Amino acid sequence: MLAHSLTQVLTGHGCFGRYLCRLGREATPGCHHCDMGDEDTALHTLQECPAWTEQRRELVALTGFDTSLPAVVRTMVGSSTGWDAFIMFYRTSGPARCNPRSVPLPWYIAS
Ligand SMILES: [Zn+2]
Repeated sequence: MLAHSLTQVLTGHGCFGRYLCRLGREATPGCHHCDMGDEDTALHTLQECPAWTEQRRELVALTGFDTSLPAVVRTMVGSSTGWDAFIMFYRTSGPARCNPRSVPLPWYIAS
C-alpha cells in the first residue's frame, strides 16, 4: 500500500484521470473533484486542486510553501514529520480513494 501510494504520486501512474483515461478506464482525463477544467494528474492533486486545499495544508507548510515535486520529496525524506504529512495528505486526498487493485502498476514496477 505504501509503495503503491508513493508510486502513484511520483509517477502519476495511479488513480488519476489522465492515467486512467490513457488506460481506457475513464472517458475523459478531467478532474472529478473540482471544476477548474484541468486534467486530473498527480501534480494537479498535489499543487492545484481546490478540493484538497485543507488536506495539503500541513505538507505545504513543511515544504516552505514550495509544492514542486523535488521540494515535496525533500520534505518526505527529510524528517518523520514530513513523511507523516505526506502520508496524511495521500490518505485523505483523491488517489487513496481509488482501489489500488483496479489500477495496474506500470510494467517496470509490476515485473
Ligand atoms: Zn481538481
